[in-house]
Amino acid sequence: MTVDWRGPARPLPAGPWQRGQEWMTRAACTAPDVDPAWFTVEESAPGAALQIAKAKTVCRACPVKLLCRIHADETGEYGVYAAETYTERTRRLARWRRLQHDLDLEASA
Ligand code: SF4
Repeated sequence: MTVDWRGPARPLPAGPWQRGQEWMTRAACTAPDVDPAWFTVEESAPGAALQIAKAKTVCRACPVKLLCRIHADETGEYGVYAAETYTERTRRLARWRRLQHDLDLEASA
């Protein structure tokens, strides 16, 4: 069987645990009873809410959640990372950028 690795135009991660960084080996999502699909499901897909809720439950007990959040913020990868969906992360980062912009304006006044 031939596997096509090219995939869709918007890359979906196989999961943070497969990116080769040491901390990822300690991730709660590497447990054998955790389904990687919970983390990579398209947010608008039917049944996504339940899968995302399962992913977030795993994340909340993860010992490397902070490192995972930094990784997700830096890479902008799609999926649930550190108990945040892509949409939630994007909105949080936009709020931070607006706050930084406001602080910069205050500092320059
Ligand atoms: S915080 Fe969640 S997605 Fe990130 S490494 Fe831990 S279990 Fe995996």
